[in-house]
Amino acid sequence: MDIGAFPKEVEIFEVGPRDGLQPEPVFIDTRKKIEYVNMLTEAGCRKIEVSSFVHPKWVPQLADVREVFAGITRREGVTYSALVPNLRGLELAAECGVTEVVTIVSTSESHNRKNLNVSPAETLGEIQKINAEARRRGIRVRSYIATVFGCPIEGEQDPAKALDTALALESFGAYEISLGDTTGMANPVSAFRIPAMIASRLTTARLAVHYHQHFGLEHANNFASLQAGITSFDGAAGGLGGCPYAPGATGNCATEIMTQMFRRMGIETGIDSAKIGKAAEYAKTLSTLIHGKCGV
Ligand code: MG
Repeated sequence: MDIGAFPKEVEIFEVGPRDGLQPEPVFIDTRKKIEYVNMLTEAGCRKIEVSSFVHPKWVPQLADVREVFAGITRREGVTYSALVPNLRGLELAAECGVTEVVTIVSTSESHNRKNLNVSPAETLGEIQKINAEARRRGIRVRSYIATVFGCPIEGEQDPAKALDTALALESFGAYEISLGDTTGMANPVSAFRIPAMIASRLTTARLAVHYHQHFGLEHANNFASLQAGITSFDGAAGGLGGCPYAPGATGNCATEIMTQMFRRMGIETGIDSAKIGKAAEYAKTLSTLIHGKCGV
């Protein structure tokens, strides 16, 4: 292995406040969410997914999105993003001064219908509209593709579906596309092969990976994707998360462990190990889901 082939730095996209807290069944006080985001900023995170403009009827936990955006302490050079499902969500995000939004579509027809109530093709149509309007407003778009490495309902997914989806998202104008392992079904072989294959076909968009916990395999998956040339990794401090519409979904890859791995490899993330450790501990105190599920 040529150690010199590794990048000097990578980017960690912190999804804890949105993807991590979203499935939590007990409403978390707005001030605590703000504190979590502020601790992540303090730790040196440069990309933080703060909340979601999905209708509170579907995601009641994040119904306080406006208050959270109004309450956080923003640091120069840090991007605070939010999930938007449609043009209305984009409009609300713009009103909150959001400069980057994230979209989501699944490769799996069944998962997409469960998650968003429509087919992946219909969701892509909506995302295309979001991109066009976001461009007009000077807002950047990051796009998730869910169930890339397997679907809890349909099982194995043909990587060609993820490729076609990625190419469509790139053509709409996404600056970055994150391959989601929604329920922790990836392994180090697929975590190398699929990102490598898709990255070789993208021309403008950067590729990221988004792994979920499965007996620690998520860290091996990140390493495999690093070897495939990926330099952007999603994580949630404290390993929070899951998916309310995916049976058996485990927590997100823990940012604090990912940060340690890169630091020990001599790869810079810009994140302070001690401070992200504190943010992770704080995040765990917010969660009722994490107990009994960590590492599974
Ligand atoms: Mg996730």
